[in-house]
Amino acid sequence: MSRRKKTKLDLKENEEKPIVSEESVTSDVTNEKVKINSPDKKLSSTPSTSSKAAKKEVKKDDFKKEDEKKKDQEPESELDDPVIKDLFSGLEGAAFQSRMPFDKLTSTEAACFPDIAQAALQTVKVYLNIRNRVLQMWLENPKQQLILEHAVEKLEPPYDSDLVLVKRIHAFLERNGFINFGIFKRIKPIESRKYGKVIVIGAGIAGLAAAQQMQQFGLEVIVLEARDRVGGRIATFRKGNYIADLGAMVVTGLGGNPVTTLSKQIDMELHRIRQKCPLYQSTGVTVDKDKDEMVEREFNRLLEATSYLSHQLDFNYAGNKPVSLGQALEWVIKLQEKHVKEKQIQHLKAVISLQEKLKFNQKTLVDVKSQIREANAKVKEFAAIEKKNIQLEFAYRSAVKDLNDYVKEWDQLQEQAKEIEQKLKELEASPPSDVYLSSKDRQILDWHFANLEFANATPLSNLSLKHWDQDDDFEFTGNHLTGK
Ligand SMILES: Cc1cc2nc3c(=O)[nH]c(=O)nc-3n(C[C@H](O)[C@H](O)[C@H](O)COP(=O)(O)OP(=O)(O)OC[C@H]3O[C@@H](n4cnc5c(N)ncnc54)[C@H](O)[C@@H]3O)c2cc1C
Repeated sequence: MSRRKKTKLDLKENEEKPIVSEESVTSDVTNEKVKINSPDKKLSSTPSTSSKAAKKEVKKDDFKKEDEKKKDQEPESELDDPVIKDLFSGLEGAAFQSRMPFDKLTSTEAACFPDIAQAALQTVKVYLNIRNRVLQMWLENPKQQLILEHAVEKLEPPYDSDLVLVKRIHAFLERNGFINFGIFKRIKPIESRKYGKVIVIGAGIAGLAAAQQMQQFGLEVIVLEARDRVGGRIATFRKGNYIADLGAMVVTGLGGNPVTTLSKQIDMELHRIRQKCPLYQSTGVTVDKDKDEMVEREFNRLLEATSYLSHQLDFNYAGNKPVSLGQALEWVIKLQEKHVKEKQIQHLKAVISLQEKLKFNQKTLVDVKSQIREANAKVKEFAAIEKKNIQLEFAYRSAVKDLNDYVKEWDQLQEQAKEIEQKLKELEASPPSDVYLSSKDRQILDWHFANLEFANATPLSNLSLKHWDQDDDFEFTGNHLTGK
């Protein structure tokens, strides 16, 4: 299990500047001076050519007993969780679970129902109510085909009055796979008359699902598969007692995920994957928790920065060649290293400037000291004269004044020397880090990179910076789950 990247959306919402900006903000990893707001995010260890399928937001296991206790109190099955139940309930929940906006028509709906899309608000509301209610009926009982007659029966008045509209909505939802999909009991048999022939290429889950739907719509379907088995990337490896899923074993969130319906249809209980992912050093000792969390945050910040480069600055091509995520990450790291060096230079410059000031101060002190000595001698000389005429008296008083002024200056210089020394001490006590990432930090960071490669089933140098996170905005919501 691992961490996930910050999404484009997160970036928009997060007010903190990403680490690549006009004034690049240093994340001083080794000195632990990082001020990061990025939430702790992890990636599922599920590899996928699609970045999203493998990514999710999960709580980081920070070994807190409190958390463990809390988790133990959580319902075993995700669908029994009252929060989840609440999320999926009602008409709004039905629309959300079907990946449709609750209160407006999708562009496909608008194209299929131009009369509704252009009608008065009240008509649109009636349409939406029927659509959401039909979705809700299906989601409440997905083990059985939802036929038009049953939908009409269940519709509350006055929404059941326009039978033609209900029929159109039911047909639209069925044709577009929002209802009556997956494994369910048919109430009306599939028509024996065939309306046409279709060839589906590839028996992965997408091809099989499409073939099944089309077969149910009355088409003759032939599926061609290049391999000697169906399932595509979903495959189970079996050897003796050993069974291992080689793909798609994690449900990456129930919210908006049609797999939620499939799991209900086959009574498959889904359980949260308890994320425990301690990292081990080559010595066999676990990585210190604080360090682990800090590097993970840095990893997320680096991804955030690459996302900023790509989506805000549109820095996706270098010399007409598309930039890869791996390249962008290394560039951001280099920028950070440069920033660390710049900070070091600034620090050294500040130290040198203070030392110069101190040097000047000490030299002035020496000068003032000799001036005090001279003035003091003069004062003594004039003081020894018992009867002073007006000129001598004036010279005497001037000498006293000079002496006082020099003493005052001496005191001020001493005060200034103290201040400079204090500032120097402070600067020397907190030097900036001399490296952005120590070799140990880099090792941990590399683990995250390797895990991201695993999750995307390809080296980072193969992942397009511009497109690798294109499906982030369509992520399912909720915990990662798996069957028992
Ligand atoms: C190791 C691994 C782990 C994963 N874990 C998860 C997970 O935990 N959760 C999750 O949600 N997703 C996971 N995924 C992703 C998930 O498996 C895929 O998104 C999903 O299976 C894709 O299904 P598909 O039907 O679109 O494509 P595929 O499963 O790739 O199916 C395409 C089919 O088409 C066939 N084909 C291709 N070209 C031709 C041709 N010219 N002629 C005939 N046949 C052809 C292929 O042989 C293949 O059977 C994982 C993927 C991998 C590789």
